[in-house]
Amino acid sequence: MQKELIEQLLSDPSLPCAVHELAWVSPRTIPFSEGVRSMCAANRCGMYGKSWACPPGVGDWQTLRDECYAHAHALIFTTKHVLEDDFDIEGMQKAAEDHKTFNRTLCDLLEARDIPCLLYGAGGCTLCKTCTYPEAPCRFPTRAHRSMEACGIDVGALARLCGIKYNNGSLTVTYFSMLVFG
Ligand code: SF4
Repeated sequence: MQKELIEQLLSDPSLPCAVHELAWVSPRTIPFSEGVRSMCAANRCGMYGKSWACPPGVGDWQTLRDECYAHAHALIFTTKHVLEDDFDIEGMQKAAEDHKTFNRTLCDLLEARDIPCLLYGAGGCTLCKTCTYPEAPCRFPTRAHRSMEACGIDVGALARLCGIKYNNGSLTVTYFSMLVFG
């Protein structure tokens, strides 16, 4: 019942873009690994040590894995965005922003229907203008969106497991999210 409702909400008109592909999986099959998590320390995205939603503040990957595995259902979905050319920085920024807005709006829709869930997104949490890390606790611990990789999820392996394309070809950018509940 909740699965059907969630699938309906994925095409709600208030969402900024469409879902490209989706798959339901058992949370316990989601591949977590220390190797993925340890890549965050290289700080290529510039968010390492800057947010409660990124390492090390987000917590150890085994605890995050066990938290995910404690749920009954997991929905993996992607949004796909078309770029004008290889140098379309504006298009890439808009794609990232639209995916984040999609996630936030979806969580609001779920909250309004009293469906508690955890959403793992792409990139660091941008809910607050300035994160409280590390001076004070997270302002919105149930609304902060952790990136899948920050939790140690091997998104490439997960895509293969689900039969969802990791990459949708040239001049496109694809973002993944995961929702767990139940
Ligand atoms: S909700 Fe705010 S305080 Fe919490 S991780 Fe996100 S940006 Fe930081």
